[in-house]
Amino acid sequence: MNHSTSNDWVARSLRSVWHPCTQMQHHEQMPLVAIKNARGVYLYDHDGKRYLDAISSWWVNLFGHANPRINAALKEQLDTLEHAMLAGFTHEPVVELSEQLSSLTNHVLGHAFYASDGASAVEIALKMSFHAWRNAGRPDKQEFVCVQGSYHGETIGALAVTDVALFKDAYGPLLRAARVVTSPDARNALPGETAQDVARRAAADVETLFEERADKIAAFIVEPLVQCATGMAMHDPLYLTLVRELCDRFDVHLIADEIAVGCGRTGTFFACEQAGIWPDFLCLSKGISGGYLPLSLVLTRDSIYQAFYSEDIRRGFLHSHSYTGNPLACRAALATLQIFRDDDVLAQNRVKSAAMMAALAPLAQHARVANLRQRGTIFAFDAIEPDANRVSTFSRRFFATALEHELMLRPIGRTVYLMPPYILDPEQIADLAARTRAVFETTLWN
Ligand SMILES: *Cc1c(COP(=O)(O)O)cnc(C)c1O
Repeated sequence: MNHSTSNDWVARSLRSVWHPCTQMQHHEQMPLVAIKNARGVYLYDHDGKRYLDAISSWWVNLFGHANPRINAALKEQLDTLEHAMLAGFTHEPVVELSEQLSSLTNHVLGHAFYASDGASAVEIALKMSFHAWRNAGRPDKQEFVCVQGSYHGETIGALAVTDVALFKDAYGPLLRAARVVTSPDARNALPGETAQDVARRAAADVETLFEERADKIAAFIVEPLVQCATGMAMHDPLYLTLVRELCDRFDVHLIADEIAVGCGRTGTFFACEQAGIWPDFLCLSKGISGGYLPLSLVLTRDSIYQAFYSEDIRRGFLHSHSYTGNPLACRAALATLQIFRDDDVLAQNRVKSAAMMAALAPLAQHARVANLRQRGTIFAFDAIEPDANRVSTFSRRFFATALEHELMLRPIGRTVYLMPPYILDPEQIADLAARTRAVFETTLWN
């Protein structure tokens, strides 16, 4: 038995671990939480304190921690095949997963290429798009277009199509500039405008750019329906429909980055379904393994796959990762898809989301709350912080207060959001909403 306390682990971690997306010095004031174990929607520290994981451990966990069905599938896979390389070899979990994902797109996106994290899936889509155009005799199509406020990961290529100043500015000189188009964020509506009007206006900006230089553009990359990392910016599905039409008309690939919004998060299995479109490339990661193991993939149309099919190795797609198609990760994904089928998850989530939104509704009346919004199981609102000096500390103050209320809830800037696992029961929904409201109230005075 290890009787170390949370404080012991925190002290050792701060001496040896470099934490992601963190100014380490802030931990002189801000708490670091040492998690010992987890079950269902709760994380437990070494002192027995529990936290409701209201943001699904960075948006990855769908069906709770230590999920019995995923655990059982993984234990069986562990005793069968833990890993085999995917060049020259194949195995049951990767074949089954590829077939099932293809069938979820009605076989429009018929081939799956695998990696281990979201940023790598984005890199793959960008490289594939460029290379497919070159194989098609159009080597000048080398540019990428992204949307204001976009987030596609933090490796050099993915960062180039990311438009979050904090992440991008520091490494600007290393990046190949992408073209950034107007955001379709429904919060940008002018007086009298609907979300669809904003979508039309934003799509017109894409059209202008395409008219000017589509012959130089390989692909347009977008986070369908919700731009999560910039602060849960939501747009009307019409934007995607219009962008799909423009990409078809101007010969530009459409890359849907569904790393955060896929796997049922927005109410349909793929967010693109709500716009009635399919992209040319679809990136998945985060929830696909149920939040268990690093896994990402890019689904592509058969026309893209065919553009690489040749005798010539240089016309093939030149990309690989050591753990491509890892059987354990694929097995976790298969168990996750099985739960979607067995439990009719999308239908259940509709009921749960309505209950959550009803429980959060009083916030819409709050004088310090703007833009209470929802898409699927993503809920968000913006705090109004009249004291300019307190804006930059809002997120940290909220996070610390949330921990005191046994909640794992970390705002993005002034945007408070919930992205809970799908397994909340009615009592937990009411409890989460009530505690979120209480934490917000306390944070305003802290
Ligand atoms: C998280 C995320 C990524 C990057 O995934 P990593 O696994 O963190 O590299 C890319 N795109 C979107 C939309 C994301 O939310």
